[in-house]
Amino acid sequence: MAHGEVGFPRLLRTDSFASNDYLGLARHPAVVAAAREAVAEYGAGSTGARLISGNLAIHEELEREIAALKGTEAALLFQSGYQAAVGTIPALVGPGDLILSDALNHACLIDGTRLSRAAVRVYRHGDFAHAVELLADRAAFRRCLVVTDGVFSMDGDLAPLAELADLCDEFEAWLMVDDAHGTGVLGDTGAGTAEYLGVSGRVTIQMGTFSKALGASGGFISGSRVLIDHLINTARSFVFTTAPSPASSGAALAAMRIIRDQPESRIELVRNADSMRDGLRDLGLVVPFRSTPILPVLIGDAVAAVALSDALRAEGLAVPAIRPPTVAEGTSRLRVTVTSTHGESDIAHAVNAFERAMRRLSWI
Ligand SMILES: *Cc1c(COP(=O)(O)O)cnc(C)c1O
Repeated sequence: MAHGEVGFPRLLRTDSFASNDYLGLARHPAVVAAAREAVAEYGAGSTGARLISGNLAIHEELEREIAALKGTEAALLFQSGYQAAVGTIPALVGPGDLILSDALNHACLIDGTRLSRAAVRVYRHGDFAHAVELLADRAAFRRCLVVTDGVFSMDGDLAPLAELADLCDEFEAWLMVDDAHGTGVLGDTGAGTAEYLGVSGRVTIQMGTFSKALGASGGFISGSRVLIDHLINTARSFVFTTAPSPASSGAALAAMRIIRDQPESRIELVRNADSMRDGLRDLGLVVPFRSTPILPVLIGDAVAAVALSDALRAEGLAVPAIRPPTVAEGTSRLRVTVTSTHGESDIAHAVNAFERAMRRLSWI
């Protein structure tokens, strides 16, 4: 995030290593065509909330497709991932209940938690033993909800979902996973972090978005029929807002089908992430191993991180510096993301740009 800058960072499309469009689906001809066709068939807008006049066949078709990918009974669309979180958490817990939240959770989970007015305890990032400690007085609360990102957006690492699922079994808690960055990317079928970690079926509430690997926009929750029926009637960010636009749902539906039918693009993505990480490490940069396309290049000092980002921009490469308050003090970084559409030469070009930028700064 470019804090302190005025206006939006200008990203060069071809040389962007900052995009969440991991599979290049935002510009995929079939996805773009599906958006157009949905507009032609259903119109520009959906004309109302789902419960009033806005329910379209394409919404229901998309919900069936998500439920199939995630292996759940049902699914529900929201206008965005953010709205999915802030509507769902308060629909499930409230005063007298307890939420356990990972310290690095996305802002939408934090905001949903605040809106719920449940008691909140934050466990150290990825530290399920700390989460267990915080549950010592579990009996003092009615319901308990554990919320976590599947893939953490600024670090690219994964939540310990198997351990958290065990904890939820032991303490009678629900597990909610925001898999914005895992959906379409991780797992044999692209179902996400839960599939990758072998815990599909143990996540009570699966949340995701079409705005990252699916290249479109809109959020969703998938889970049991009972859960979804409850949300349809109580999640305020579902009830009191206009249904997703035909264009976004049409695009998302086409993208879901590409994810289902083209597993090879996930393999290309991993290959590109590996070769980018190797190239950057060879320059002496600190890039932890991640099983995702998010590669944090750890710099530490915020001023140094911005200097490198600026020097890269001068070399024609768009990679944002991520600084406090988005990340903790002393952990500023460049967040490099690769996509399956980057070719070998794009990766080599990017690594060269890093090398030139580092020379420019006399770092090497
Ligand atoms: C991007 C993101 C969201 C929000 O999704 P939108 O559909 O863009 O609102 C939620 N959680 C995480 C972890 C994200 O990275």
